[in-house]
Amino acid sequence: MKLYIVADMEGIAGVVSPAEVEGGNSWETEQARKQFTNEVLAVCQGAIEAGAEEIVINDFHGHGRNLILDRFPSQVMVIRGGFRRTSGFDLLDSSFSGLVLLGAHTRTASVQGVLSHTYSPRLQFEIFGQPVGEFDLLALLAGEKKVPTIMISGDDKTIEQASTNLPSTLGVVTKWAVGTQAALCLHPAQVCQLLKEEIRRAVKQIDKIEPPAITPPIQLLIRPLDVALVDRLSWIPRVKSLPGGAFEFIGESMEEVANVVYGATLLSTPGH
Ligand SMILES: [Zn+2]
Repeated sequence: MKLYIVADMEGIAGVVSPAEVEGGNSWETEQARKQFTNEVLAVCQGAIEAGAEEIVINDFHGHGRNLILDRFPSQVMVIRGGFRRTSGFDLLDSSFSGLVLLGAHTRTASVQGVLSHTYSPRLQFEIFGQPVGEFDLLALLAGEKKVPTIMISGDDKTIEQASTNLPSTLGVVTKWAVGTQAALCLHPAQVCQLLKEEIRRAVKQIDKIEPPAITPPIQLLIRPLDVALVDRLSWIPRVKSLPGGAFEFIGESMEEVANVVYGATLLSTPGH
């Protein structure tokens, strides 16, 4: 059995501030990297105990060079580095039995979600009129390849958002948001323990978890929260400008939709 882990940092134990995850050389970043590695390791250990034979981890946060590799067992491989064409789902195909979304966070502009954003904090995305975040898009991408999302971890608001679109996915709450940069946090070792227990349960009931299904053509709406982005987004081919500053894209697959999401994100990132 092969598992795929998309590992992000905003939703891990204790992280509440951009200073902890922005990738510099600070003690805060190092502390977060250590806990990040501990949590991914706990998921790997639990999954292997429950029968996983191969695990691919996508170091998904920022520049993609956060995990401390030599701490992992030999069944594990890590996709790392930046500017990957299909950032969230490189090498994810139907040979995988399940997807794990670790350290996930709420959608752009979620009230009280810790460090909420959907690739960019300045863009909101909707599919068929429903707000979607990174975890929704990743679960739908995996679903298109018939891979179920078996577990998600993050703050309580993330798990609450995920429960609507991914009702049979097991959720692990790592902290309770008390603001966009504040939370009541579980002990880091307690989070690792919970992750290990829940992934064992998830792997054992993997056949009962349905992959989310979506039928193309898929309508994606992009809503910029900053009017300065409106000109830039109109550069993308097949993206139609709507009255009021929103944009519509009709995709033939989730992969096409995800590519437009990444393109829009890159165009809206300062410095590009
Ligand atoms: Zn991140």
